[in-house]
Amino acid sequence: MTRPPPPTAADQVAFLGRIERLLSEGQFVATYKYALLVAIADLSVQHGHDDGSELDLPVRLIAEQFIELYWRHSAPYGRHSVGDGSYGILIQNNGRQASIIDIVEKLRFQHRKLTLARASAAWRGAVTRTANLVDKMPLWRLQVLRNETLEFLYAKSPIPGNIRLKPGVAANFRRFHRMVIRMAQSEWLRFIQALPGNASLLGATSDLGQFLFGIERTGLIRMIKPLADIQGQRCLYCSKHVDTGEIDHFVPWSRYPRDLAHNLVLAHKQCNRHKSDLLAAETHLDRWLARNQAHGAAITEAARTANIIVDLAGTVSVAGWAYAHGASLHAATWLRGDEVEPLSGRWRSLLVEYG
Ligand SMILES: [Zn+2]
Repeated sequence: MTRPPPPTAADQVAFLGRIERLLSEGQFVATYKYALLVAIADLSVQHGHDDGSELDLPVRLIAEQFIELYWRHSAPYGRHSVGDGSYGILIQNNGRQASIIDIVEKLRFQHRKLTLARASAAWRGAVTRTANLVDKMPLWRLQVLRNETLEFLYAKSPIPGNIRLKPGVAANFRRFHRMVIRMAQSEWLRFIQALPGNASLLGATSDLGQFLFGIERTGLIRMIKPLADIQGQRCLYCSKHVDTGEIDHFVPWSRYPRDLAHNLVLAHKQCNRHKSDLLAAETHLDRWLARNQAHGAAITEAARTANIIVDLAGTVSVAGWAYAHGASLHAATWLRGDEVEPLSGRWRSLLVEYG
């Protein structure tokens, strides 16, 4: 069987234009449509092809993506608690909280981690409830604009419980994945910010985009000077003098995308680049924990000025999580230059010692 040809340049432009119209002309009473767009884009990358073929997606699979997307969102935002004493989970709906948050919050409360939730007996039921929600709410509304239906993405599939992406749609999502995700995320963010119910939670903190989607921020530059003072103008990793260093996330950003003040270190550009997304070797962990113990208060003070989140105990616990995870995967840790080494297990006693 020959494969259908990939979308032409004209098809691609038309696709992007229609996505833009969905986001600007659609009516949004909850954040579900943004999540649906992100879920379909992600699934196209995971299961689709670059030619013009159609793609069947089970609604249950979309529901699983929903649970993952809302997983971050169902934790309290910061430590604020709202007037009625409940903890501050951001509202995702005009009026009552979105039902997806109730579903995910329960899972999260029982299982803490998404991987554990996935392996639990409760997962199937949560997926079923979410699939019903997806089917009832955004699935047949996403392509409806104010005065017009723009059914260009998908229709019902002859296979029960599936939708069928139209020819070339998966290929377009694959090609423009990053762009579509960014468009959907920025509208999602705006929607949450505009809900009056969220005003008290959003107050002073400014890491909402980061909390929801793990978007890296650029304000860290303000930590260079104070960290240089605290570290005696030395790189945390090689201990040599550093003139114009960089801020590095000790537990790599790719593993834990949130800026916690005590996770930030000053390092050489070169050291930072070599370390990349690897965990730092245990000898670095030792130095990092010692630095935080000796200078925890000074880092806290600098971070308050720079409007960066402070939670020393939480940061150490994130490190514990990252190293335990690394150990279970036999991950290589970065020592220096191109040198890596396995974990010896010393990380465990170090974390106890400083914890
Ligand atoms: Zn260095």
